[in-house]
Amino acid sequence: MRDSCNFEAVQAKVAALRTDIVRMITAAGSGHPGGSLSAVEIMATLYFGGVLNYDAENPKAEARDRFILSKGHAAPVLYATLANAGYFPREELTTLRAFGSRLQGHPDSLKLPGVEVSTGSLGQGLSISSGLAYALAFPASAQSPTVFTLLGDGELQEGQVWEAAMFAAHYRLSNLVAIIDNNELQIDGAVSEVMDVRDISAKLSSFGWYVLEADGHDVRALYKELTTAKAHKEGPAVVVAHTVKGKGVSFMENQCGWHGKAPNAEQCAAALDELCAPGEAALSVSDRPADREVV
Ligand SMILES: [Mg+2]
Repeated sequence: MRDSCNFEAVQAKVAALRTDIVRMITAAGSGHPGGSLSAVEIMATLYFGGVLNYDAENPKAEARDRFILSKGHAAPVLYATLANAGYFPREELTTLRAFGSRLQGHPDSLKLPGVEVSTGSLGQGLSISSGLAYALAFPASAQSPTVFTLLGDGELQEGQVWEAAMFAAHYRLSNLVAIIDNNELQIDGAVSEVMDVRDISAKLSSFGWYVLEADGHDVRALYKELTTAKAHKEGPAVVVAHTVKGKGVSFMENQCGWHGKAPNAEQCAAALDELCAPGEAALSVSDRPADREVV
C-alpha cells in the first residue's frame, strides 16, 4: 500500500475501464454492464491507487493481497481491471464469453491469471475470503496479506453472507476487507422491494465489523476509506460504497433492465460518445469475429 495516491492516474483508468466494459459486452452480445459500471471506481482505486499489493508479472506471489469478486457476474469490470493492470493483453477483452476464451461469463481461476477464485454463485465470496484470511493470518504477522472481496447489495440477501460475517468477526480477521457495491438495485428491481436488506452498516456493525462508508464514485473518498479499512487491525472491516448502477452511461444509470443486457451497436456508440475522451484509442468492437459461439 502506497502512502500517497496519484488520483489523476486513477481517474484515467476509470475512463479506460468504462469504455472497455461497454466495448467487450457489446462484442460478446451478452453480459452484465450495470453492476460492472457501478464498481469501476472501487476497482480502479484498489488496483491503480496503490491499495492492493499485487504483481501482474508474478500473479501467485505469496505476499500478494488477494481480491475476490464475490459478485462474479460483474466479470467485465474485473477483466478490464486485470487487463489494464498487465495480467493479460487488453486486446483479449473482446473475446469475452467466446467459446474457448479465458474470459468466461463468470471468472474462472483455472484459466485467467489474477483471478483468485472462480465466482458467480452469489453469497459465497465472503465465506471463501474469510477462510482465506483466517489461513493467511497464521502465523500472525503485521505483513499478513489482506483479502479484499467485493459484494453486491442484492447479494446480501444470501444467508451464507451472514454466517461468514459472524465467523470473520468472531475470529477477528483484521486482514479481511469487504466492500459492498451498494447500488440499491438487483436483477429484478430495487433491493428494497425484492427483499429489503435495510441498514447494511448497522447490520454489519452489530455483527462486530468496523464499518466505513464512501461515495463509491469518488476515488479520493474510496482511497481514504479503503486504506483505513486495510490498516484496521482490530477485526474485519467493511466499506459500504454508495454507487449508481450503470454509472457513466446516462441511459443505463439506475435502470435494473441493464443488469444483464448487452448494448446493440447503436447503443454502444451512444455510450462511447459519453465515455470516450476525444482521440482516445480503444478496442474496436469489430475486433471480435461475428461467428463465434457465445456461451
Ligand atoms: Mg446491486
